[in-house]
Order: sequence, then C-alpha cells, then structure tokens
Amino acid sequence: DRIAAVDGDIHAFLHLNVGALSTAAQIDAVRAAGGDDAAALSPLAGVPVAIKDVLCTIDMPSTAGSRILEGWIPPYDATVVARMRAAGLVPLGKTNMDEFAMGSSTEHSAYGNTHNPWDLSRIPGGSGGGSAAAVSAFEAPLALGSDTGGSIRQPAAVTGSVGVKPTYGGVSRYGAIALASSLDQVGPVTRTVLDAGLLHDVIGGHDPRDSTSIPDAWPSFAEAARLGQRDGSVRGLKIGVVRELSQEGQGFQPGVLQRFRESLALLEAQGAEIVEVSAPSFEYAIAAYYLILPAEASSNLAKFDSVRFGMRVTPIDPKTGLPGGTVEQVMAATREAGFGDEVKRRVILGTYALSAGYYDAYYGSAQKVRTLIQQDFARAFSTADVLATPSAPTTAFKLGEKIDDPLAMYLNDLTTIPANLAGVPGISLPAGLAPEDGLPVGIQFMAPAREDARLYTVGAALE
Ligand code: GLN
Repeated sequence: DRIAAVDGDIHAFLHLNVGALSTAAQIDAVRAAGGDDAAALSPLAGVPVAIKDVLCTIDMPSTAGSRILEGWIPPYDATVVARMRAAGLVPLGKTNMDEFAMGSSTEHSAYGNTHNPWDLSRIPGGSGGGSAAAVSAFEAPLALGSDTGGSIRQPAAVTGSVGVKPTYGGVSRYGAIALASSLDQVGPVTRTVLDAGLLHDVIGGHDPRDSTSIPDAWPSFAEAARLGQRDGSVRGLKIGVVRELSQEGQGFQPGVLQRFRESLALLEAQGAEIVEVSAPSFEYAIAAYYLILPAEASSNLAKFDSVRFGMRVTPIDPKTGLPGGTVEQVMAATREAGFGDEVKRRVILGTYALSAGYYDAYYGSAQKVRTLIQQDFARAFSTADVLATPSAPTTAFKLGEKIDDPLAMYLNDLTTIPANLAGVPGISLPAGLAPEDGLPVGIQFMAPAREDARLYTVGAALE
C-alpha cells in the first residue's frame, strides 16, 4: 500500500514482486503453526526487502538499469538473494540504479530518475538511489545495494539511511552483475544500524561460488550493533579523523562539516578518543579509481555482445536495404543502442587505459597509487581503531545539476572511494540535517579489513 501511495512520485522500484504478499502469508502460517519449523525461522523471516537491480533474481527481471538487459530474467538467484529467501525474507521488488552502477545520482538509469523522498527535486544518490529511496520513503524496511565506489554509502547518506560496504570478500558477489571486480561489494541499506547488522548476518559469510570470498567465520554483526547500544561501548575507542577528508577548502558543504564534528563530539562524550590521522595519498583516490574502474568495467561489459545476453539490434545493410551485417556490425549496433552515454564513456576510457603503449602510464600508475592508499590505511589504523570522514561532500544535489558534467559527478565520490581501493569496510549513518538546506548528512566510519564489527558497534553507539 505504501509503495502504491508514494512510488509514483519516488520511482524507487523498477519491478514489483507480485508474489510478495503470498510468500509473507506462508511464513505467517509457519509461525502460527508453531513447533520446530516456527522455531527455525530467522529473526528477519517475513520482513520484505528491496533488491538493487544489479542482483540476479530468478523470478524477476534483472537489468542493472540498462536498456541492453531489458526484460532479462536470470536463470539463477544471486547468493545473497538465495540466502535471504532461505532465511524467510520476502523480496519486494527490484530497485532503480545508475546503468551498470556507474554514477552518483541514479540519473544514468535507462528507466528514468528516482527522486529523493526528502525533496523530490533532488537526487537520491547513486548508483543505488532506488534502494536508499525505498528505505527512506518507508516503502521497504530493508534493502540490498552494491558498493564499488560508494553506491551504498553515498545514497544512504543523502537519504538519511544507514548503508554498509562490507570488507571485500565478506559478502558473496556471485550473481551480482559485475562493474569492477576488484572493488565490488554487496551490502545492506536500512534505517538503523541494528537492522543492517541483522541483514549482514543473513547475506554474509563464505561462498565457494565467489573465488574472492573470505573462507573464515565472521562474528554476528547484529551482536556488534547491540553491543554499541550499551553504555560505555566506545570508551577508549580511538577514532581517527582523516585530515585530508574533513577540512574546509576540500569541497565540503559547511553544514556537512558542522554535523560531522558534532557527531564526533557525541562519541567523545561517550568516552571515545578523537585523534587526527593523515592519509596523504587519499587526494589521488578519485583519479586512480576513475582509471581502474573503467579498465575493469570495459572488460566486464564485453559480454554484452548481442549474443550471450539481452538485446540484439541488427543493422540495415545500406546496399540491400535489408537487416543484416557481420558479427561485428551487429555487436556495434547493439552496444550503440543498448548502452547509455556514461557506460560508453567508461568503456572507451577503460579500453584506452588498457591499450598497448598506454597501459603502464595509466592503469599501471593507478595501481601504484592504489598501493599507496592501502599503505596510508595501514599507517592510519596503527594509531586509530576506526577512521571517520563525512560520507559525502554535500547533501543531495538537484536533479540535472551535474548530469552534463561527469567530473563534477565523480568528485561527489571523494570520501567513499578510498575504502573500495583498499578493500576495507565502511558504514554511513545519519548525522542530522544540514542547517543550510535541512537535508540529511551522513557520517562515515571505516575499519581495517575483516573488522566490520567495529563499524556496527561505533555506529550503534552514535545512533
Ligand atoms: N559513483 C561511483 C561511480 O560512478 C559509484 C560506483 C559504485 O559504487 N557502483 O563509479
């Protein structure tokens, strides 16, 4: 009912699961019957979840926001979706996103804009704007996203939601349509830190179908969040404020910095110790990312070739006036019609950066910068338990404001990208409303790889 009432204005969903209510009724029946089956239900059984359209679902189209996959129904579920179903969660539908998760505003979707529930003239963030808007507009209590360079955390920040990018390898990417395989992670978007922990506990853990999946056991993130709700949980915790990503003159809106500092003061009042750390290479993170990402994306997107997936456009042969052409002509016509401008831009950038003669200068240099960023993290974590930055430099900007200026759009990823380049986990949670525009501000915490639990504890302590 809520979706019917508001999604006409918000447009968070691309597809609704018509079977959601009957699935929920079946779970209610199991619960009502009691006994062993009822006892085996997970704490989230019956709770509906909105799923970013980058995740494969066996019973719903999975387009990744692209025309080229319009109507494609995968032959299998992503591991995270399968795990949710097994735990009794109810898929509500698929949410809008920038095409192939490239963007920071959801305006690069082939299926129209999603609107920020706080102000319909503004962007909901991206690429996972649909999932964050659905949660923020009370259309879904839980959602799934994917984060390659901030696509969970930045939409969470600008919609007043909680978003977690787990440690690289912490959540299976099997069945997540790949953008940049060395950066991609799947994670939760929710209204509270505890909800995120509960969902992370369901979707996370080793998956032999993802070769980058970490085989070790994980602690309960819901327990880590509950710990954070207790008094004194952050006493003695060292929070490192990243000097390069927290000052005036670095592109931050004043109200964002104000709410960020107030949030840190709240944690200090609970006994946390605020220290300053320096990460000099973070300044080059956006430049390195926008070489590494297009390089990997150009390779991952080569499979959309008019043969293996999705649409096929057969060109008209100018000589005969009939449809026809070589394999290459059919492929080119399909990719021309099926991909949007941002995807084409990145495929061209990526293939250029990887081409013989340029590889060392561009891709090679970017990989070296990535190593420097990882070293900065290691140094910072030798003095601080978690790092803190604002989640995004500004609150939600206006729809249309940056759509014709790719560089301005990329700069919005200032604070989220370092975590992806290093594979470390990050959380964004609400830090209040910016005084100048009344829109949500997010604060981000990052922890060393595999220490996701710290994020849930500090996040719940602040919440
Ligand atoms: N804004 C980032 C980009 O455009 C977001 C990528 C992501 O996390 N999927 O690449």
